[in-house]
Amino acid sequence: MPDTLYIVVPCYNEEEVLPETAARLTGKLESLRQRGKISPESRLLLVDDGSRDQTWAVISRLARESCWVSGIKLTRNRGHQNALLAGLMTAKERCDFAISMDADLQDDVDAVDRMVEEYYGGSEIVYGVRSSRRKDTRFKRGTAQGYYRLMHLMGVELVYNHADYRLMSRRALEGLAEYKEVHLFLRGIVPLIGYRSSIVEYERGERFAGESKYPLKKMLALAFEGVTSFSVKPIRLITLLGFVIILCSIAALVYTLISKWFSFTVEGWTSLMCSIWFLGGVQLLALGIIGEYIGKIYFETKARPKYRVEESVDPQKEPD
Ligand code: UDP
Ligand code: MG
Repeated sequence: MPDTLYIVVPCYNEEEVLPETAARLTGKLESLRQRGKISPESRLLLVDDGSRDQTWAVISRLARESCWVSGIKLTRNRGHQNALLAGLMTAKERCDFAISMDADLQDDVDAVDRMVEEYYGGSEIVYGVRSSRRKDTRFKRGTAQGYYRLMHLMGVELVYNHADYRLMSRRALEGLAEYKEVHLFLRGIVPLIGYRSSIVEYERGERFAGESKYPLKKMLALAFEGVTSFSVKPIRLITLLGFVIILCSIAALVYTLISKWFSFTVEGWTSLMCSIWFLGGVQLLALGIIGEYIGKIYFETKARPKYRVEESVDPQKEPD
């Protein structure tokens, strides 16, 4: 019996694209089923993220009409990452592996076949990676590249040009469920889970219909989330700056004393200069040190799992 696949799709105000998306994805499930790759219990799981249009009505109708479609509805709009997590956690109970993708058909549906092959080849996580960003505006391409560079500098492991189009086995989903943090940035968390992973490249197209639910404001919020949910490097920068300014204060001390001894300076200038530099440095350093402790609290409160056991072996023989 082949494994059960759930395709999880978060939907926010997607009434225009849903019928087409569902048709293509159920077609894909059908063909995988015919080729014996997935079980008949496989489903397309549509997650309505508190849409304000007819999305839920459309999902309910699709579920009535097709044996492949099921849906869940969140009580209100909680954002893409939360909607996706809701879908994956629901799927975790029912499937052997799940693929997440957007509702707008920008992600190439045919890459699903290659992902499934990788899964049967032993990968527990398969990342869908955009082969190029030719179709993006120059602005989006530039900001995206800058963003990956920034994340790298901040010490966050990300898969380059990978959004949320990915396959995860049930074991990987169980690993994901151990991350209890409220501020979710799935792209950062999934690589932390571990297991064997691989990459499938695909060409990302235009939105099929409707408009992007990710205006610049939400994009910046996601980027900020990515940095602040994974890294305490910004705090470390403050400590570093404090050190640098204290060093500068020594240089300033030498400079002001020399000026005082060798040339005319206004009364009080020397002591003012020295105190301003030195106190500024001490204050920043103190802030940085407090920040280091806050950083520790921040990681403790996340209570991330420290490890995950993949396999274990025990002796097969009794001692003689
Ligand atoms: N989405 C969601 N909740 C939101 C915003 C978006 O579930 O609050 C879904 C949306 O329906 C789509 C996916 O997240 O399936 C990605 O959104 P979109 O395609 O608008 O983003 P873009 O491709 O423009 O970055
Ligand atoms: Mg899109």
